[in-house]
Order: sequence, then structure tokens, then C-alpha cells
Amino acid sequence: MGRKRGRFAPTPSGQLHLGNARTALVAWLQMRQAGGEFVLRMEDIDKPRSRPEWAEQILNDLRWLGLDWDEGPDVGGPYAPYTQSEREALYEGALARLEQEGRLYPCYCSRAELAAVASAPHGLASEGPAYPGTCRSLTLEERQERAAHKHPSLRFALSDRPASFNDLVAGPQRAEPGAGGDFVVKRADGIIGYQLAVVVDDAAMGITDVLRGADLLDSTPRQLALYEALGLTPPRFAHIPLLYGPDGGRLAKRSQAVTLAGIRAAGTPPEQVVGTLAWLSGLADTPEPARAAELVPHFDLARLPRGQVAVDEPLLRLLAGG
Ligand code: GLU
Repeated sequence: MGRKRGRFAPTPSGQLHLGNARTALVAWLQMRQAGGEFVLRMEDIDKPRSRPEWAEQILNDLRWLGLDWDEGPDVGGPYAPYTQSEREALYEGALARLEQEGRLYPCYCSRAELAAVASAPHGLASEGPAYPGTCRSLTLEERQERAAHKHPSLRFALSDRPASFNDLVAGPQRAEPGAGGDFVVKRADGIIGYQLAVVVDDAAMGITDVLRGADLLDSTPRQLALYEALGLTPPRFAHIPLLYGPDGGRLAKRSQAVTLAGIRAAGTPPEQVVGTLAWLSGLADTPEPARAAELVPHFDLARLPRGQVAVDEPLLRLLAGG
């Protein structure tokens, strides 16, 4: 087997916060320990939600934490570009292939019904009910009639086979056939769906190991269905339990999102953030300050917690200098 390749794939729709900084740290440690390559990919495919200044700030915050990458938007690499908005031709190529295989159909359901489903990467729970397949079996005539009033989105028709895979952290996973319903691969406004873009990119970039937050566990069966339909080999997956704040919500949520910018502004040193995140991830015995590079020998997927991790108020205050 060739070299391991991992990645961190932030969406620049906001600033880096403790939750995604921790995902970046753990994914980086995994690759550095394996002697693999670490790729940074900017997932700005949803242009209206993304901002270039956030993309830049994410890179700065990651550098501040002591992380580096072998390939990325700023340093280039053999699979450039590393910014999704510059990779549209690849996604269109994949859509053409799916179309040829008879796996796409236009969907004319209203935008309001679909807004949440379109490209949300964060699990079925945040997407509302599964798509009921309304437009899957429209006749050509019905399609023409609807097309006169509305530009369609494109949906991927799931097969009737269940999906199963072995997650390196979450363990064996199984999704019922059609779980979540046929999903959007291209929105009516032309924006490519997250599921398609991430699969096309991970495959094209030769990613062997996808390590990301457990909020994307639900997305994985759908991504596996795309790998299969596109004749691509899927990577290994490791979904790490999320950090939860004192109010019981995910640290990523606006209310509790402790941003790296805020932490930096408070004068907290990067070693303190890295040490705390490593400790919360089971990779250090104490929250002592540590440099990311010092943690490399201690990385072990088996040490990662299996359940969600609570971060208490004093710890958040400590990091945010409050
Ligand atoms: N861009 C996605 C996010 O920021 C992550 C994609 C992935 O790791 O597969 O949530």
C-alpha cells in the first residue's frame, strides 16, 4: 500500500473554533505519526456562505497552532487547485458520469422544502425529514411541464442496498437502504452539493484516511454510495466524537463557539490550546501546555474517546482568557 494521505477540509463560512481546531489537530497528528501527507482543502463550494477573509484566517489560525500541510491552497501541490470553487469542472465531470449511469434525476420540489437538505454536511438530524422521492418517477411529460415553471435541482438516486462500513473510531456502521432519501448533488441555483464535492475531491486527491467530526458520520453512507456509482475506491473513515459545551450543545454552535481568534486575542498561548485539545481527545494525560509536534509520538486512534466529550465552563474561560 502507498503512503497514507489525510486531510482537513474546513468550510470558510465562519472562523475556526475549538471544535474544528481539534479535528484539524487530530487529523494532522494521525498523518504526521504515520509519516503520511497532510492536505488542506478549502471547501468554499457554497460561495454565498463562504468568505475569502475567513479562509485566510483559518490558515493563519492553523499555523498559529503549529500545524503545517504538505499541499494546500497557499502552497499548491500535485492535485491543485485545493479550493473547491476552482474545481467545478471535476464535479461536472462526475455529474456527467452519474447521468450516464442513470443515477440522477431533476427535482422540482420547492426551495423552502429543500433549503436545509441541499448541501448541509452536518448529518441527517440537521436536515429535516428524508426526501420522500417525489420527483424520482416523474414522466418525461411531467418533467417538461414542471420545467416550464422551475429550474430543477439534481438528485442522486440511492440504490436499494444497505450500506455498511467499519469506522475506525465509531466501529461498525450500517445504514438502511435509502437512508436519508435521494440527496441533492446540484442545487437549483447551480451550487454543487457537499456530498458530491467531498467524494470527488477525496478520490482525486488520493486521500486514504478521512478523519473528521462525528457530525459527518450520517453522511458517510451517502458518500460511499457515490464512490460506488462513480467506480472509485473509498478511503478509511474515522469519525471523532464532538466536543460539547457547558449548555449541552455542540461547541461548534454559535452560542458556544470559542473562536481561535478570540483565544488569540485573549493572549492565550497556542501550546495551552493544543495541550487542552490533546487532553480532551485522550492523547495526553493532563491538559499541560504542549506543542503539536511533541504530541506526534503519542497519537493512537485507540486512545480517542468513544463518546461525546464535555468541556466545562472553567476550561472554556481559561482558554478564552475570561
Ligand atoms: N467541509 C466540511 C465541514 O467543514 C467537512 C468536510 C469533511 O471533512 O468531509 O464541515
